[in-house]
Amino acid sequence: MTLHQSRICKGCWQQMHLPVPLRGVLSAPFRLFGIRPSRMNPNTCTVCELMFTTVMRARKVTIDATVLFADLRGYTTLSQSLSPDAISGLLDAFYDESASAIWESDGLLNKTLGDAVMAVFNFPIRRDDHTRCAVLAAREIQKRWRAKRETLVEALGLTGNELGIGIGIHSGELSFGEFGRSHRDLTAIGTVVNTASRAQSAADADQILVTEAVYQRARSDLEGSRAKAYRLKGFEPSIELYTA
Ligand SMILES: [Zn+2]
Repeated sequence: MTLHQSRICKGCWQQMHLPVPLRGVLSAPFRLFGIRPSRMNPNTCTVCELMFTTVMRARKVTIDATVLFADLRGYTTLSQSLSPDAISGLLDAFYDESASAIWESDGLLNKTLGDAVMAVFNFPIRRDDHTRCAVLAAREIQKRWRAKRETLVEALGLTGNELGIGIGIHSGELSFGEFGRSHRDLTAIGTVVNTASRAQSAADADQILVTEAVYQRARSDLEGSRAKAYRLKGFEPSIELYTA
């Protein structure tokens, strides 16, 4: 995976002005104390991932953030005809390309859920333009995937564009923290998350759909985008989504 990797933790530097080394010789003593690059964003560390529990003594924080869901279309059908190796190769490629695009925009790759990924923008790296970051990351995922797909399709002996990604984005206040007692899960919850997920399910392969909130905040990047009413499960009567 090619990444522009930060030498110090962007989260710790931004919030506490502490230069926490993530790579190289200087990072060794930190690693002894379990401080290492976060798996959700290697430009941040395991400490700021949990900053609110250690510093703020809270199990969760309410933040204004942007949530992105990306889903690999056609995966379920394909997984019935492909070998386990081919399937894992496919998912690895999807995760890798998504992760690189998300990290470049300072987002957190919060979860991989089978053939989907969920990303949160504005935590732990704060960005006033987090909504815009998410839109740019979504476009970058699509761009990277279109390039990658050609090779994959050929290698797997598939035809046409059987492998496309559908993306949904929504912004607003959500709860980020550790949820669950027996199995602690660091994630975001709330209507913003559910709406982003629903927008993703409405998107076609190769499409990015964003909500009105995203459109208002990232307007300069969404010129010419038109709204269309979608009937989504759980939303009555319908919801306006914009293509990005
Ligand atoms: Zn950190």
